[in-house]
Amino acid sequence: MNGEYKMTSFDFLHIDAEINGSKIVGKAGGVLGKMLQPYVDQFFEKINSLKVIAKVNGMQVYNLYNPPFPSQAGMRFLERKLRMMLSKMAFPVTANLAITHKCQCQCIHCSADPFIDPAKKELTVEEIKTVVDGVLDLGASLVIYVGGEPLLREELFELIQYVDKTKSISMIFTNGLLLTEENVRKLAKAGLFSLNISIDSSEPELHNEFRAVPGCYQKAFEGAERCRKAGILTGISTYATSESIKAGNVEKLLKIAQEQGFSEVTIFDCIPSGRFLKDTSKILTTEDRKQLIAITRKYHEMNHPMGINCMSIINSPRGGRLLRRSVAILHDGIRRY
Ligand code: SF4
Repeated sequence: MNGEYKMTSFDFLHIDAEINGSKIVGKAGGVLGKMLQPYVDQFFEKINSLKVIAKVNGMQVYNLYNPPFPSQAGMRFLERKLRMMLSKMAFPVTANLAITHKCQCQCIHCSADPFIDPAKKELTVEEIKTVVDGVLDLGASLVIYVGGEPLLREELFELIQYVDKTKSISMIFTNGLLLTEENVRKLAKAGLFSLNISIDSSEPELHNEFRAVPGCYQKAFEGAERCRKAGILTGISTYATSESIKAGNVEKLLKIAQEQGFSEVTIFDCIPSGRFLKDTSKILTTEDRKQLIAITRKYHEMNHPMGINCMSIINSPRGGRLLRRSVAILHDGIRRY
């Protein structure tokens, strides 16, 4: 397997990479190649220390938010990192594009809720494509379509197909209600890399109650299974509250995700947003965060491929500073960082 990316038509820098045994090795070439080789080595040393959560076409996936390595999109991701380092400028790595405000659920914690205004027009497909062109030009290597519920936008498949797979992977965040055989087939055909299904609780009744949709939990898990069969990587996105950590529900959900074959779980801290805006009782205390980080480490270190992204770690001062590297566009075109 060999991935190669050239910075421009003039060969300032190109990186060749391949899998050697279970490790990825990369060689920088071009005018800047010799100077940047130590950074390329450092990058692959870090990558090789991570857990491989899945393999796609022989390439290694370390988390659902980055392209596999050594794919062309993965090499481009590395090139952008090097470019950021050289220019001391930040480029977005991730683009969150809200393509609709419509949703079948009425989650009590919905952060999209304050922005839902049926009077506002949604971006047209052509406008969304222009945004995709723009974020890919800026260097994004992950385009995430969100909502509302993105599967309620009938052009979703066209929009996934539109993402240039040599530059970026695509993901959706979904409530899982519309992952029918036909939709999953169309998502796979369009080239969807992964999806994150939002699950609020390890307890089906609680999840259904939070979402105000009976049967929502079961439909989500059945849809996820269809996706895995179709070759789409699946993740769960959930949020932790003081209560759910103490009651063991976070850990229970991690166990379920492992058993079901999810590739990754992303655990968000419960922050005051949506209809939780005025309910500060859900905010994690320092002790809750410590406990959450300990649970995350325990599952991460298990001899099991499933990966875990814990926002308590990522958004900490020593974390990945995710927010500085992402751009978000609401369904009506308003930009948020
Ligand atoms: S599924 Fe997502 S968009 Fe829909 S109401 Fe729930 S949180 Fe909001």
